[in-house]
Amino acid sequence: MVNNNKQLIALAVVLVLVVGILVVMRLNRSGDDEKLYEQFFAMDTVMDITLYKTDKTDEKLSDIMTEMRDRIYQMEAELSVTKKDSDVSKLNAAKGAAVKVSEDTYYLLSSAIKVADETEGRFDPTIYPIVKLWGFTTGKNRVPSDDEIKNELKKVDYKQVYVSEDHNVSMRGDAQIDLGACAKGYLSDELCEIMQANNVNGIVSLGGNVQSVGTKPDGTDFTVGIADPKDPSSVYEKIVARNNAVVTSGNYERYFEQDGKRYHHIMDPKTGAPADNGLASVTVVGPNGLLCDAYATAFFVMGEERSKAVLEKNPFYKAAFIYEDGHDSGFDKLK
Ligand code: AMP
Ligand code: MG
Repeated sequence: MVNNNKQLIALAVVLVLVVGILVVMRLNRSGDDEKLYEQFFAMDTVMDITLYKTDKTDEKLSDIMTEMRDRIYQMEAELSVTKKDSDVSKLNAAKGAAVKVSEDTYYLLSSAIKVADETEGRFDPTIYPIVKLWGFTTGKNRVPSDDEIKNELKKVDYKQVYVSEDHNVSMRGDAQIDLGACAKGYLSDELCEIMQANNVNGIVSLGGNVQSVGTKPDGTDFTVGIADPKDPSSVYEKIVARNNAVVTSGNYERYFEQDGKRYHHIMDPKTGAPADNGLASVTVVGPNGLLCDAYATAFFVMGEERSKAVLEKNPFYKAAFIYEDGHDSGFDKLK
């Protein structure tokens, strides 16, 4: 009897172990198959990508992630203002000569010019001489003199950029472009397209740009935390990202301080200085990441009142404004 009991206990222990091992193996396998997270650093930004398999996904998540990674680095190579061989650097060094650019650069630059038209030049892809003057690409930040600003402002005018359908671009000799205000939005559109083509759901977060496809595996929506401008590592508001892009431009993203004043990286093309209308951040939600990105930057310069005219003409886009004094325009319409 005692022996029988011992045998039974031993059998039970073996059974528990075998079942346990099988369960762990199954969990590992489903874990690997169903979710994949990776982080990249490109375009001066930490980029987080999370992919979830659906029942229609054919390829492995790792192959899809590789395709997305290649797209990130391809776009960075085309659009960087600091990499010498990029289309943007070639254009900036062309001194007026025509440069044949890639499909991406052509599309992004044409779109940027349209937004510049729509925002009466508050968004201006030729802002680069001013961005450089304040040291935002060189890392040597300083407050320039009024004369210096006046001189560099002469070079800023998006109407001096000519884009032809054969992808040739020419600009006035001293013009220089910077597509940093909309490039990440375009990249997130492209990454979401890769997800859709491969039937995966997921979410990409490229600095202040978040965009998602589908839902989480349990059917719930992805949510996006909007940073608190006073303490950007904490969440000010949470909104749902249902197949939309959620893009925030803030004065806390890149800035330096001098004599107790903060000088940030979003420039008013009318003054050649950081936009100064009491705003701390602007969040734009809508179906197209490129446009959300461009509008968030533009609205930061335009301020809430002027932005309303643009929003009225684009009913799929909504915006929320957080002010430096801590009040906001309301996030309900974004939820
Ligand atoms: P974002 O973080 O999308 O608001 O983009 C800010 C970046 O866009 C800056 O770091 C500059 O490179 C560039 N930029 C600054 N001011 C403007 C402007 N008024 N129009 C277009 N691009 C700008
Ligand atoms: Mg932007």
